[in-house]
Amino acid sequence: MRSLSINDADFAQKFRRIVEDRRESGSDVAGQVASILRDVRSRGDDVLVELTQRFDQHTLSSDSDWSITPGECKAAFDGLDTGLRDALQLAADRIRTYHEAQLPEDRDYTDDAGVRLGARWQAVDAAGLYVPGGRAAYPSSLLMNAIPAKVAGVKRLAVVTPTPKGAVNPLVLAAAHIAGIDEIWRVGGAHAVGALAYGTGRIKRVDVITGPGNAFVAEAKRQLFGVVGIDMVAGPSEILVIADGNNDPDWIAADLLSQAEHDPSAQSILITDDEAFSRQVEDRIDVQSSMLATKSVAQKSWQDHGVIIVVDELAQSIALANELAAEHVELAVEDPSPLFDGIRHAGSIFIGRHAPEAVGDYVAGPNHVLPTGRRARFSSGLSVLDFMKRSSFIELDEAALRAIGPAAISLAEAEGLPAHAKSIESRLK
Ligand code: NAD
Repeated sequence: MRSLSINDADFAQKFRRIVEDRRESGSDVAGQVASILRDVRSRGDDVLVELTQRFDQHTLSSDSDWSITPGECKAAFDGLDTGLRDALQLAADRIRTYHEAQLPEDRDYTDDAGVRLGARWQAVDAAGLYVPGGRAAYPSSLLMNAIPAKVAGVKRLAVVTPTPKGAVNPLVLAAAHIAGIDEIWRVGGAHAVGALAYGTGRIKRVDVITGPGNAFVAEAKRQLFGVVGIDMVAGPSEILVIADGNNDPDWIAADLLSQAEHDPSAQSILITDDEAFSRQVEDRIDVQSSMLATKSVAQKSWQDHGVIIVVDELAQSIALANELAAEHVELAVEDPSPLFDGIRHAGSIFIGRHAPEAVGDYVAGPNHVLPTGRRARFSSGLSVLDFMKRSSFIELDEAALRAIGPAAISLAEAEGLPAHAKSIESRLK
């Protein structure tokens, strides 16, 4: 863990190092992923069998080793205790309601020159949904991927999710049942993403791949952009908590650990204007993390990537937060409004002491698949629009062509493209 004060003589250099920390590409992730993707493209299913054996200790042999049926998902749903079933259903309902409000409207109008113009939104034909499953199972990610895709109207949804040592998580299956998923492949990592992009003997290719994952999954999506569409690069989790000294240090410590426990490459950062409070939080992190079932991951993440920054005034945290452009930003302060108004770059913002980030992971409604690695500067959380694309359209009759065609002819001639000019001229003769 690194501890900084904004008054340190070398604060600017230390802060820059934190901003530029490339947690996601530590051990030549990009090179390994490129080689895995080349292999999947040339040898398809055989590579999935080899790598699933190596990374997940799961043998892909019979159909049931490869995929999960809707019947199994229904059985898992029926077998859940009512508390969990209700919790999943509440999450699904809230996610659906939030995402339905994102559906875009088509445009269709005729302008003053008599030209009919517009734009029509349509869903992609097939989407591949990555549901992480290496260190933990993520039924929440299944809902966060599948519900916006369904709301968008995507016909084919193919889920890939690893099942380490062959263990299938019943909650993931139950979530698939709730979301109406009927294609689930038991593969994960960069090879699963490659299979969705290129297609293999068993897995048919898709048009868009969405979802979060570890550094390998995130890098595979990044490299495949262009072969397929992607939502954004959603890698190892991050949280930035901006807190004053009037918080319960136990609450803030738990918030920081909630992201650290995802992955040794995850990052948790606290900015506070109260140094004594920062030391209390540090102590509570030591105590709480030692009691977590996820202790080894959480402690490694906090040790390697955790940061505490003490500022003189909370207003100074705005510029730092905008540089960090974190996936999640919590504002645990007396009056969050000025900070909320100032923060321009963040995947998702949690306002007030009673809005812990974890509530957004599950049941708040907005999507928890969010950009990491400072990409909140230019990309946004998963939405219905990631599963749709827009075609513009243009309709002219002869009068409309006479009104705007001559200007196009002039521009075509000026560009030295005579065939362009002729295709308009010949219609105006
Ligand atoms: P995962 O499914 O993302 O990755 C597991 C797979 O990675 C394994 O099945 C294996 O195939 C592959 N793999 C593991 N080690 C490898 C290696 N050395 N080389 C090549 N491939 C390898 O599951 P996970 O590991 O539990 O990670 C989940 C990730 O998702 C965490 O980093 C978490 O922070 C992140 N997450 C991000 C968001 C977001 O919106 N940004 C949301 C939820 C979770």
